[in-house]
Amino acid sequence: MEFFKLKPGLRIMGILLGLLSSAALSQAAGLTAAHHIQIELIPNARKLIGQNEVTIKADGSEILEFRLSKRATHVEAHVNQTPREFSFNNGRLRIPLKPHERSDELRVAIHYTAIFDDPVPIRPVNTDNPGFGVTATISEQGSFLLAGAGWYPELVDSQATYKLTVTAPSGLIAVTAGRSLGHKINGEKTISGWEVNYPVEGLSLSVARYLVEEKSVNDITVATYLLPQNKHLAAAYLRATADYLSLYSDLFGAYPFQKFAVVENFFPTGFGFPSYTLLGGRVLQLPFIIHTSLGHEIAHCWWGNGVYVDSSQGNWSEGLTAYVADYRFKEMKSYEAARDHRRQWLRNYSTLVSPQNDFALERFQSRYDPVTRTIGYDKGAMIFHMIRQTLGEESFWGALRDIYRTRLFRRTSWSDLQQAFETRGKQSLQDFFDQWVYRGGAPRFSLDGVRTEYTGGIWKVKGQIIQPKPYFAVPLTLALQTAKQTAYQKIFVSGRETPFELDSDRRPQKLIADPDDDIFRRLFPSEIPSAVNTLKSASSVLTVLSEKLDPEIKKAAGVLALSLGLKHNVFVTESELNGQMLAENDILVIGIPRRNDLLPKMPARITVQSDSFVLNDRRYDKASDTFFGVFEHPTATNRVAALFIPLSVQYAEVVARKITHYGKYSYLAFQSGKNLDKGIWAVETSPLLYEWEQTRE
Ligand SMILES: [Zn+2]
Repeated sequence: MEFFKLKPGLRIMGILLGLLSSAALSQAAGLTAAHHIQIELIPNARKLIGQNEVTIKADGSEILEFRLSKRATHVEAHVNQTPREFSFNNGRLRIPLKPHERSDELRVAIHYTAIFDDPVPIRPVNTDNPGFGVTATISEQGSFLLAGAGWYPELVDSQATYKLTVTAPSGLIAVTAGRSLGHKINGEKTISGWEVNYPVEGLSLSVARYLVEEKSVNDITVATYLLPQNKHLAAAYLRATADYLSLYSDLFGAYPFQKFAVVENFFPTGFGFPSYTLLGGRVLQLPFIIHTSLGHEIAHCWWGNGVYVDSSQGNWSEGLTAYVADYRFKEMKSYEAARDHRRQWLRNYSTLVSPQNDFALERFQSRYDPVTRTIGYDKGAMIFHMIRQTLGEESFWGALRDIYRTRLFRRTSWSDLQQAFETRGKQSLQDFFDQWVYRGGAPRFSLDGVRTEYTGGIWKVKGQIIQPKPYFAVPLTLALQTAKQTAYQKIFVSGRETPFELDSDRRPQKLIADPDDDIFRRLFPSEIPSAVNTLKSASSVLTVLSEKLDPEIKKAAGVLALSLGLKHNVFVTESELNGQMLAENDILVIGIPRRNDLLPKMPARITVQSDSFVLNDRRYDKASDTFFGVFEHPTATNRVAALFIPLSVQYAEVVARKITHYGKYSYLAFQSGKNLDKGIWAVETSPLLYEWEQTRE
């Protein structure tokens, strides 16, 4: 389910603050810095008092340059215990070095104070950005300081290790990457210590009144840092975390960190950091998170937070993580679940990405809307699926193990991955990477000219696969069904027209190209059922308020439109809507309209009335019931009409906030805000399917 896709912190930093790849060039890379950061938090003043003592092995640079938040004041710097002049502007603190210091080991101390008070969303309507733009906030409820926000001075272009001490009012426990040195109470204060002795690309920090549970599994500390309300979830998260760690250690190689912690945030985020994940309390409570997002975040400890992304060539880590986590879990369930998941990627791409907003995978950096998510995650994952189909199991997983072993904590690009797959697979993948990674788009195949010739007891099936420009070259499976069996044949498709010929000793019934959805392609409209995503990607939507609508339901309609992120959305009443407006827009109807022409064509499984609806033979007539469905448009082809029918105001807004998370579904029924039924309309035709008329042999 598409609730919340999480991503590693380092990517967010890169995008929000433009720091990683644009690090200042005034210094040669290769400085090493050991930080000892001491922070005191004063939550009621939203203030931090900090001191960072950095031991630096100088590399000849004339100037040391640190990133420090623009919000920092009372800044002082010392070099080898002597006060030193410096410049500090635009978030850059520059300390000039004397000639004799430039090749020495230096001790630099920086003192500063800062107020961090980003407003925190409590009930966000749109969840496309996993951190809601919050980078640094200190409060009595909790504190969150994102890597890259400059909450401590960070030496530009350095390999850094950290020792961190956080002092806060009693009971406030701090958690970050690395190894815990314990939390101790000292009078009115709680002091938390942490140590990070592997090279991380920045530290994030969370502080709250945590209850800590820990256990040791094969020398790795598995921990939960939960707020009292969610204390009961600890055991299940600890167990699941231990299982994921062993799954991925077996698959890729030993876990790279000393701990993994599930940390609760006091506002609804979804972040994955090296060695911990930071999830909002309501997210943690969702029963599916343990089976989906948790595994995804843990897989990032190998991919993204373990093997780093070289962002100059785009971010491959989301596609790979989606493939080895979200997808792999489906595959562990059943063959069908995995195939459905692939099909869903194709639907997402075909509905959410248009040729106009498409871009090459190598340009994906991080997700901030449905288009970036679909390309970076779904298409990315499908690329790894196709590589696996090409190379086979042993070479595919072997190459991933090679990459992990040789590139841990090193920035790694698509080219590095390509090389590893080529080495294991003993073949060039240049054409493959050119068309799938370095170029945008997707092929659109169809069957053409299918015919049979019957001679000498054999049916010869002939035809061709055609595709429009730009042409893709792919191996494509053809499945020929007879009454007795299905025979498979692989052909290599390239160019505008690829002829094929298959023999069958029985009368053919059905011919399907790419029967298992193993190839990434743009689906035809006839292959895509109307769904919430169709509405989300519509270029313009009219939200039609039916007559006599309760004002509270109108308000819920506003929340719905906002949470779906509708583009060019205009609210109109039933009576304002004319035929031309209807024909030129996708529509979202709120309540049961009086006008019949606004009611979409509905499949038999659903009937709606003003005080009830029937879905899949179940009758819903309680005031707490709500229906949402996306149908074919009543007049325009290739458009949709959606219906939002809360039977009363009770749960209208609660449901309005939820619908956006059910992107792939065509219809939804809710009772008291809980989803009771959901489904996708069946699709019967496809240009990749040819059926012969049935005659008895
Ligand atoms: Zn991710």
